[in-house]
Parts: sequence; structure tokens; C-alpha cells
Amino acid sequence: MSATTTRELVEIDERRLLRRLDDLAQRGALAQGGIYRALYSPAWSSAMELVAGWLKEAGLFVRRDAVGNVWGRIEGSRGGRAIVTGSHIDTVRGGGALDGALGVVAGIEAVTSLWDRFGRSTRILECVAICEEEGSRFNTNFWGARAIADRLEPGEADRVRDADGMTLAEAMRSVGLDPATAAGAVRRDIDVFVELHVEQGPILEDHGPRLGVVTTIAGTAHLEVTVRGQPDHAGAMAMTRRRDALLGASAMTLAIAETAVRMGHPAVATVGTIAVEPAQVNVVPGIARFTVDARHTDPARRTELLTQIGDACKAIARERKLDVEIRTLRDRPPVTLSPRIADVLRRACLAAGMEPRDMTSGAGHDAQVLTAAANVGMLFVPSIGGRSHCPDEATTADDVVLGTRALATALRELAYQM
Ligand SMILES: [Zn+2]
Repeated sequence: MSATTTRELVEIDERRLLRRLDDLAQRGALAQGGIYRALYSPAWSSAMELVAGWLKEAGLFVRRDAVGNVWGRIEGSRGGRAIVTGSHIDTVRGGGALDGALGVVAGIEAVTSLWDRFGRSTRILECVAICEEEGSRFNTNFWGARAIADRLEPGEADRVRDADGMTLAEAMRSVGLDPATAAGAVRRDIDVFVELHVEQGPILEDHGPRLGVVTTIAGTAHLEVTVRGQPDHAGAMAMTRRRDALLGASAMTLAIAETAVRMGHPAVATVGTIAVEPAQVNVVPGIARFTVDARHTDPARRTELLTQIGDACKAIARERKLDVEIRTLRDRPPVTLSPRIADVLRRACLAAGMEPRDMTSGAGHDAQVLTAAANVGMLFVPSIGGRSHCPDEATTADDVVLGTRALATALRELAYQM
């Protein structure tokens, strides 16, 4: 097929797709609502078994790699570098049924439908359930995609621990994986990676259309801000003489949010954690320590956002006679996805009768890590109310089906070309 041919939308099995999403949502379902599938936990293993079963049922060649990513493969008649689709199987604590799961289940549905309808592909076609993306159990993230892209750090599995003190390496052994062989997960033969994901924000729902093609993924910076004042007696020290670290941190929190609001979309800044010392009911806080998550898709604007946040904190500290120290915990630059794959996705959306919206992603994704190993494209479907990382995360069945058909159509162009 040439790029100019009008493509027809690939049919999928809608009922199987929706039923499987429901089935996967039972793995790791919490009594109080929401889902938690932590890396290498029993819920995670159970979800991976379910996925492997679907891949086997489809007649694909199934394997688990050295870090536990599960792959299903169609050997292309002409070999070459692989066309891959998928997403992550893990969730945040109390997460929803679609973040990651949609890309896994839709990927399997798309590849299975292509295999059933058109037989063997010309290119190698694979779907993958990536073992971890969220960083919700261990203080590390993109574990699965980084293993594929050869971006694991030496000794990382022995260094990082979960809240119970178990190392990532020990957790790997508990599910029959050998941390010493983690490098075996590296793939140098992937040509294309395409990920379908829920938007996790409100743009598609508020402004339409129902499909978005991601062009850029925002760069994330994590800062740790430590504000030092003076601990004093909560009863005896006059209000006017205090150097209350928490009041300073509170003013900074407001100023940080205002900085992002002033800069405008897609700038975002979030204070997500805060701790005070000595943390006693009758003591004026002497130290307040909080984190900032700041993101922008434009490298220069992101730097500007970080500078303005730093300046705002310093000005407030000066006014209130406090000391402030800002430490960078993480600094990931924005990532541009492949224009060629974006075009393939646009054509697939047009086949679905829809001109897609070009979008930036504020959230991080496996796709951004895999740009180190492949040409990457990403397709978004709407999130109801823009909600994600919560039990209410949802997308209409029509949009789930539409996104999956568009994905299958794109994969057909990529993997079935003569
Ligand atoms: Zn995700």
C-alpha cells in the first residue's frame, strides 16, 4: 500500500476487547475501590498470566523477557526490524482500569484482529505488556521500557527498595526472574513502537475530536525545596517575631502554582508532598520540606518555568527571613515523537472518519523512553472528566473501540506493507 491510498478502518472484536478490559481490571482490584498492580506483586503476576493466555489464544509466539515484560509475536514474512505496540501493566495505588491497561489490551486486540483477518504480516509484528512504568512500588520508574531501551543503571535492582525494605532484585527473584540477566531484555531490533493511551487530561473531552496524536511529551523536573526558619514555642512566641518555615512554604506553594498559571498551558507545577520538623502540635515549624513537579513540552519554556519557581521561592524566603535551598531530584527533558509515525496515526484516524488533534502529553509514558530505541508514535482517546490515577478513571466504550480500530489500522499500514 502506498501512503496516498485511502485506508479502510480495520475491524476488531469489540466485545472481546471490552470484556478483557473488565477482566484485567479484576486483577489487583482493591476492596475500597480502585486497582493496585505493583511490580512483581501477586496481582501483577496474575495480570501477566492473563495477558500471556490471551496472546497464546491468538496463536502468537509468547515469551517473558529478562525483567518480566510479556511479548506476543507474529514472525513477518520479510523479517527486518519489528513493529511493536503495547503499554504498561502496572498501576498506581488506587488507580483506574485504563492507564496502561488500555494500551496492552487494545494492542493485543489489534494484533489478534490483524492476524485473524489478514494472516501473517510482512514485517515482524509484536505486542508487549510492559512490566512497570508508574514507580508506585519502588523508587524508580519506566523499569520495563528502560530495560528494553538499555537504560537501566548499574546496580539499580540492588539499590532501590520498596516501602517494606525489599530490593527490586529480591522482588524479581520472587517471581522467578534473575536480576543478573536483566540486560537480556535489551532490544536493538525495534523499528516502531506505537502506544494507545488514555489522555488523562480534559482536552479531548472538552474540545474534541475523540482522537489525539501526540507530538511531544513534556519534560519533567522534580525539585526538593527545604525552607529553614526557627522552631519556637507555639504559645509563648509572638506572631510578629516568628520565622515559621511552614508559612513560608505555604506562600511558596501558592506562588509556584500561580507561576504555572501565568505561563499558561501546557505549563504545570505541583507541590505533591510536604513535611515539617519538628512536627509537633505545640511547636512553630522550624523546617518545611516539599517537592515540586514542574513540566512543559518546550525546552526553553520549561527552563523559564523552573527559573521563575526558584525566583519566587527565594523572594518569599527573603521577605519572611527564612533560608531556602532548592535541590533538583530529577530533570528529564521534553521528548519529540516521530513525525513519520504521527503521519501514519493521522491517516488511521482519517480512516475512522476523524481529523485527530495534535497534542502534547503532560504525563510521562513508556513511549518517551522507547524513543531511545525506536521510532515512536502515540495515540490518545478521551478521559471522562479528564480523570486518571484514580478509581473514577474512565473512557466511553465507543472511544475505547474507536481508538483500538485506529491503532489496528495504523499497525496494518506499518506491518503489512509490501
Ligand atoms: Zn500510563
